[in-house]
Amino acid sequence: MGVGTDVHPFSSDPRPLWVAGLEWPGEGHGLAGHSDGDVAAHAACDALLSACDLGDLGAVFGTADPRWSGASGVTLLREVARLVHEAGFTIGNVAIQVIGNRPKIGKRRAEAQKVLTEALGGAPVTITATTTDGLGLTGRGEGLAAIANALVIPPDPA
Ligand code: MG
Repeated sequence: MGVGTDVHPFSSDPRPLWVAGLEWPGEGHGLAGHSDGDVAAHAACDALLSACDLGDLGAVFGTADPRWSGASGVTLLREVARLVHEAGFTIGNVAIQVIGNRPKIGKRRAEAQKVLTEALGGAPVTITATTTDGLGLTGRGEGLAAIANALVIPPDPA
């Protein structure tokens, strides 16, 4: 099992909002960050890397590496899945919880799960969401957070 969390602030400049592999038009400013700020995809990446002892997002992609500058969360997730498979693991499933006021994940849950599941080569990804009843940075609408767990099956011992 592995765990991952991520937090990004909403940008003060207009930019598209990307969460859980989907663009959310009409939901206001997007998330600030080195990449698209997709907290759900980033938390899922970290959970998978954690489960396989492959490091974390910062170690694997490094913000100084121009190859990943501006990369979408789905692109990173696809690359993490490749690394996980290369290390001999099979992905069981990934569960992501998004924490924040907007966007409302529920109305596009199936669509988001499909995109992220495809990025993992078919391993099931589920997405749920919650708010913090107005408390903290997500409750004040300053940003979004996500927590993910990943289950992987290790390679058979030789
Ligand atoms: Mg991130």
